[in-house]
Amino acid sequence: MAQRLPQTWIARFALAVLLSGLYFASLTVWQQMVQDQQQSIAERVSSQAKNLATRLQNNLDYQVHDLYRVAQLWNQRGRIPKDQWLLESQFSLEHFKAYQSIQWLGPDLHMRWVAPITGNEAALNFVLKPDHPNYSLALHARDTGTPQFSNSFALVQGGRGFVLYTPLYIKNEQGKRVFDGFLQGVFKVEPLMDQLLSEVDRDYFSADLLENGKPIYSREQPDTKAEFEQKIAFHLLDNQSFAITLKPSPKLLARLHSPLPTFVLCASLIISTLLVAALALALQSHQRANDLQNSNQRLNKEIAQREHIEHVLIESRERLQLVIDMTDSSSDGLFIVNPDSREIIYMNRATYRSLGYSAEEFSDLFKQNPDHLLPNFTNWLSELRKSQDSSPSQMSQHQLLRRDGSTQPAEISAQLVVINEHEYLICVSRDNSERLRFEAQLKTLSQQDGLTGLFNRRYFDNQLESEWRRLQRSGSPLTLMMLDIDYFKAYNDQRGHLAGDDALRHVAKIMQDCLHRQGDSAYRYGGEEFAIILANTGAEGAAHIAAQLHQKLDEARIRHLSSPFGRLTLSIGIASINADNEDLPDSLIERSDQALYQAKHEGRNRTCLARPVS
Ligand code: GH3
Ligand code: MG
Ligand code: MG
Repeated sequence: MAQRLPQTWIARFALAVLLSGLYFASLTVWQQMVQDQQQSIAERVSSQAKNLATRLQNNLDYQVHDLYRVAQLWNQRGRIPKDQWLLESQFSLEHFKAYQSIQWLGPDLHMRWVAPITGNEAALNFVLKPDHPNYSLALHARDTGTPQFSNSFALVQGGRGFVLYTPLYIKNEQGKRVFDGFLQGVFKVEPLMDQLLSEVDRDYFSADLLENGKPIYSREQPDTKAEFEQKIAFHLLDNQSFAITLKPSPKLLARLHSPLPTFVLCASLIISTLLVAALALALQSHQRANDLQNSNQRLNKEIAQREHIEHVLIESRERLQLVIDMTDSSSDGLFIVNPDSREIIYMNRATYRSLGYSAEEFSDLFKQNPDHLLPNFTNWLSELRKSQDSSPSQMSQHQLLRRDGSTQPAEISAQLVVINEHEYLICVSRDNSERLRFEAQLKTLSQQDGLTGLFNRRYFDNQLESEWRRLQRSGSPLTLMMLDIDYFKAYNDQRGHLAGDDALRHVAKIMQDCLHRQGDSAYRYGGEEFAIILANTGAEGAAHIAAQLHQKLDEARIRHLSSPFGRLTLSIGIASINADNEDLPDSLIERSDQALYQAKHEGRNRTCLARPVS
């Protein structure tokens, strides 16, 4: 682009130079043509002028031929009679209007005959004397026998004129040829020149007649300029003193002037302009073609880049699809959310299917109320944000709401990431209900007695301690019942160990049947000894339960032949503490144990209450 600008200006400059050159050439050609035309006009004017001069000469020669013919007649036949002379003269006067008169000047050089008389009266008595300007010319004509045409001079009739002296001769008696005067043609300057010029193209020229360089006649055409003026020497008959200057009239110039140079100039200027304009257009279209080519190249490059990007995109998409397929094949839920807008950016199939939702339902529900779908989501999110710096990835247990309203335990590993100032929450959710169940089972098993299904001794220790603490805070009473089967060794001995186990299970069942309130729990304390913890229950309530136990066991009628009661019986010791009591759990066990010992001691199959702590 940066290079194209100077190139464009160089091309424009070249076109401007070309245009100037063509204009210059056109003007030069025009000028040459105009010069040629001027020269041609000058040549044509010169030719016309020469032609005119020749025609003037020939015309006068022709017009005076009659006069020569009369003189010849005179010389051959002798002096002709006056009547015949008048007739001949009359004929010549009629024929050539330029004559002022035709005269016979006698041999004594006195005027004899004049035709016509009218207008020439002054010439009747004329005598050619030596002082006359034409005297010597006339004598020269007489002596040589050749006609002589005079220069202009002042005529006796008035005005200036010429005389043609034609010598006449006759034979005397001795047969000798003697001079007999002159047959004279008299011409006034203006009529002669008018007459002579009337024969030629008078409209085409302004004419000036010069005699020995001095103008004696002028005929001007209007608006004639001195341009192309031609001066041509010529003779009137045998007189060489004359010259004529001819100037072409505007009419002749107009005829000779050709519009061709102007036409050629206009045409060449137009053609030059059109040629340069065509070149400029061609240049412009060349530049456009270049631009087009460049833009095509850019386009092709762009297309190649796009194809490459598209290829990369396709590859990325394929890889992404593989990742999606992989995540979809995962049983774990994978989802990425925008925590602010609550929009799900991505989630795999397991995320929503395991909960019974469609993808749209899950997305909509999460957007509308994430706390409903993932209880405590908002608090969890703020906790994640707080601990983000110390621990970017956090694992926590949640309950997800299924479509059917039930909950699904989920262990969610979450990480907050910020990409391009956008925060995303990446979660991997795993349905760990099985594991939880398994753990719960393990927990239960660790708390349970394998034979009876009651809580075991270890759990008893924990529960007594925790219940004691809890009730201490609330100020509620806590009662511990210690139970021991009477004469059980003998039972085993008599009925066998398996029957003994059955009996233990039976007793445990009766204990569970008698406990209805939450906070009441039964334990196998060890061997054939049991314990019952009664929260929020005093000794009185415990005695009531103990009575029920005795009654139900009695009703069970488990035969025990080695017992004095004939059936299986229990001895129970009860100890209670109140809220304000500072007693420790160990002392509660001890006291209930003592009460049990007392029941045994007092004959078994009974309940004894420990004495309240004073
Ligand atoms: P007392 O009335 O004084 O309590 O007499 P007793 O025989 O019940 O007490 P003793 O401590 O002498 O005997 C307890 C017996 O309980 C001993 C044992 O055979 C029996 N026993 C302990 N644990 C089990 C058990 O898991 N299964 C069975 N079948 N018997 C057990
Ligand atoms: Mg015992
Ligand atoms: Mg016993």
